[in-house]
Amino acid sequence: MQSLQPFHTFNIPANAREIIEATSIEQIQQAWQKAQAENLPVLFLGQGSNMLFLEDFQGIVIVNRLLGIQHTEDSDYHYLHVNGGENWHELVEWSLSQGINGLENLALIPGCAGSAPIQNIGAYGVEFKDVCNYVDVLNLNTGEQFCLQVSECELGYRESIFKHRYVQGYVITAVGLKLAKNWQPILKYGSLVNFDPQ
Ligand SMILES: Cc1cc2nc3c(=O)[nH]c(=O)nc-3n(C[C@H](O)[C@H](O)[C@H](O)COP(=O)(O)OP(=O)(O)OC[C@H]3O[C@@H](n4cnc5c(N)ncnc54)[C@H](O)[C@@H]3O)c2cc1C
Repeated sequence: MQSLQPFHTFNIPANAREIIEATSIEQIQQAWQKAQAENLPVLFLGQGSNMLFLEDFQGIVIVNRLLGIQHTEDSDYHYLHVNGGENWHELVEWSLSQGINGLENLALIPGCAGSAPIQNIGAYGVEFKDVCNYVDVLNLNTGEQFCLQVSECELGYRESIFKHRYVQGYVITAVGLKLAKNWQPILKYGSLVNFDPQ
């Protein structure tokens, strides 16, 4: 057994039969195939901030460590392709340091970029769906990779298709963000209405 303690934010002592930190899609597929061959359950983890382990996990934990951010742009938008293991808050900080606005209301939300679509993370009047362009998904049983446009993700308040149709046997490998260059701060939530951006 291996300790899950460093892999979830409650830090409660719990173990998994095996923990695999996957840095490539191939590693994710190999870990999945190993679990299938040994008839073991699989649990995916990002940063483990939405997980509470009350007992040991008798299977394979695959930790999403797919890293990398690609930035492209046109006259109206910045486009970010963000691999699923990127830390969400660090992504927000990085984007702002590059002069790319639009993610600031979503700062300090714990977790990985690849977990963000699952519950459609949100804070201070902005939700993931407001900045999402697409979500890349891997079907672990077939090896097929496909892209869902934001309109196909069924993103609602703490809701998405990733809690229903694409749960077991699917993993989010990357997200695409689309951020308008014609940016205006969103200050409609709570006491933000009193904030003067000048
Ligand atoms: C202190 C605190 C503050 C928070 N504040 C907010 C907030 O302001 N707004 C908000 O919306 N949420 C908030 N949350 C919730 C949390 O930030 C989100 O749920 C976040 O998306 C969790 O990301 P994670 O990488 O830690 O997910 P994990 O805890 O690692 O995983 C959560 C679930 O997603 C599954 N999963 C993880 N990665 C993948 C993947 N790549 N593909 C498929 N399934 C996957 C896991 O199996 C698990 O079921 C907060 C949580 C904490 C602890």
